Amino acid sequence: MKEEGSLPISGAKDEILGLLRKHEVVVVVGDTGSGKTTQLPAYLLEADEASSSSSERLLFCPVAITQPRRVAATSVSARVAHTLGTRVGSEMVGYKVRFDARVAARTRLTFMTDGVLVRECVSDPGLRKYRTIMLDEAHERSVETDVLFGLVKQALRSRGGGLRCVVSSATLNAEQFSTYFSCPVVRVPGRAYPVDVYHSKKRQTMTRFGPSSRDYVEAAVEVASRIHSTQPAGHVLVFLTGQDEIEKACGLLRELQEHDSLELRVLPLYGALPPDDANRVFEEVDDSSVRKIVVATNIAETSLTVPGIKYVVDSGYAKLKGFEPSRSVASLTVVPVSKVAAEQRAGRAGRTGPGQCYRLYSKACFDDMAPETIPEIKRTSMASVALVLKSLRVADVVAFDFLDPPDPAQLACALLELHALGALDEGPRLTHLGYAMANLALEPNLARALLETRLSYPEARDPVLSICAMLSAEEVWYFPGRRRRRRDDEQHLEILAAHLKFRHPRGDLFSLIRVYDAFEKNSADAPAWARRHWLRYRALHFARRARRQLRDELAALDIPKSSSSSSSSSSSSNYHLPEDEQIARSMCAGLCLNAAERGLHPEAFVLLPSPSLAAETDGLSTGVGALPSISLVRVDEVTSAAFAKHPPAICFHELRVTHSSRGSFAHNVLVVDPPDIIHDYRRRIGKADLDDLCGRPRKKII
Ligand code: ADP
Ligand code: MG
Repeated sequence: MKEEGSLPISGAKDEILGLLRKHEVVVVVGDTGSGKTTQLPAYLLEADEASSSSSERLLFCPVAITQPRRVAATSVSARVAHTLGTRVGSEMVGYKVRFDARVAARTRLTFMTDGVLVRECVSDPGLRKYRTIMLDEAHERSVETDVLFGLVKQALRSRGGGLRCVVSSATLNAEQFSTYFSCPVVRVPGRAYPVDVYHSKKRQTMTRFGPSSRDYVEAAVEVASRIHSTQPAGHVLVFLTGQDEIEKACGLLRELQEHDSLELRVLPLYGALPPDDANRVFEEVDDSSVRKIVVATNIAETSLTVPGIKYVVDSGYAKLKGFEPSRSVASLTVVPVSKVAAEQRAGRAGRTGPGQCYRLYSKACFDDMAPETIPEIKRTSMASVALVLKSLRVADVVAFDFLDPPDPAQLACALLELHALGALDEGPRLTHLGYAMANLALEPNLARALLETRLSYPEARDPVLSICAMLSAEEVWYFPGRRRRRRDDEQHLEILAAHLKFRHPRGDLFSLIRVYDAFEKNSADAPAWARRHWLRYRALHFARRARRQLRDELAALDIPKSSSSSSSSSSSSNYHLPEDEQIARSMCAGLCLNAAERGLHPEAFVLLPSPSLAAETDGLSTGVGALPSISLVRVDEVTSAAFAKHPPAICFHELRVTHSSRGSFAHNVLVVDPPDIIHDYRRRIGKADLDDLCGRPRKKII
């Protein structure tokens, strides 16, 4: 472990371990790169090994270390295994992420996504498998980490001293954590070199979706190439917002002229990247003869530290999950980052020596940025959270001990949604169906769709499994980034033609089944087959694994056939419905809250109101009720080509907001004809009393 001694955290090791012996919870704050993630777990392991020879009986292992991101969990476990001289999946180090795990029977350090630990809590609320929980990257404030704060607090209480918790964060405002747990804070002194920050001189404004992504991708490439041709050795880190942009920028950068003495290595880094590709970013190179240009999402802001970065190029944007309570739809939106995030990004350049940060926005734009990023729990659908809490038998979800209580109106909205999906009764207790939904590694709506096949449409099970698995994977339709805009490009036409072979008149969800089935049929040479059809092999490969896990989870569930929550139309008469019809209805059962009907304009749809709006809304006027009830949905390029003209109604998996003024469009669409099918599944909307669902008069919560 050659660098251990030089990492700032090593100076605080004894203090941290000492405090952990006396206190159940310790907060550790230290700059990104100070060694929290990679060293702290190793210290706990070491302490255990030392304790066998001393009188100290307190053991820290097994340890669960949570990461808000998949890639972080897998790549950090690889790093730690490497420094400990072992391999991932050994007794020493492993990882667990959704649909993938590499652990031994009694792995002592398990890196996992926070979502995985939340789900483990469902079956084991005391987290008895572990002696220590490390809630890492707490500053990121992902919803799951936020929920874990409350769950771990409960677990600590129930374990009566047998559980320890380390909360580690890269930002200084740790008071909130230490107040919440009434625990001590260890501050690891930072060690950063000065970074010169340059702003763009252009006058511009940063809006939610603009300047158009094309502008900042091209500007980023230009600045990175200027650095490469004029500046001395040192790696470059470029911040963009998502996979497509990153692949496009990488394509353009790879065409750069060779620098006299420096070999150029262009590397993408984003969430959906498979572990091996992500680890290439960390490969050791001779810094004086090779220059890496890493093009990353905000994953490189704090959770992964790429060594040797000297230059940072910051677009000023990030893709964040958003949620519009008025429509109950989640969306991914490109938004300007906060000041704290911009400073973190700049800080990446000063880890190993003085650095430079080039901001693609003006100083005035920086001054306009929000001081901090709003925690995800304040801008996400609460339905999954509420479902998990309910399955953990938290009676009063609104009163749950959140670190930062979410908007009660959103929680109320989530309860209405769960009720509409049949997961909650008026009690409000979780129904059998609700328990089953909580036990599937899917969002509540997809879980509901999958369960509908168990309740009413058994023949639809396999295809619906395929849809759910494909929707859990990254986008399968592959377009090499930089060609995307050139509609008349020959290759573009070739790709469209390849994709259109899978098109299905009932929409994208059916196209996904076709793709998946074709993939299975061609499994002998699947990677080559996928390449020929311009499909992402990675997505298909992931979907196969996800599908297998979902199938097992579904089989293990015990749900009575005659659940009162099933569709009224479910009866033995369903069995003679054609398979396609059964699939469409099952998907409708889950996606009925994301639905739209044809409007006056041939390509525009009018969203159907969400449960919260359909419920009587008086008293909610400051919450969800005041928001607009309808909006236009426009169908995306692939989608619109994929179904017959003008279906009367659609359900969709996701609403996406574009960078340009094209507005929102529905992504992954299902054609529904006749629309009554949707209305049938929506019949529970508005039937529940919000006071009952919240377990208290709503005036008090909103
Ligand atoms: P923190 O969690 O405090 O942000 P980390 O433990 O992630 O810090 O990183 C500590 C140091 O280890 C950093 O200097 C980083 O460059 C280095 N490091 C982390 N992961 C790797 C890796 N996969 N390969 C090489 N160095 C790494
Ligand atoms: Mg870290």
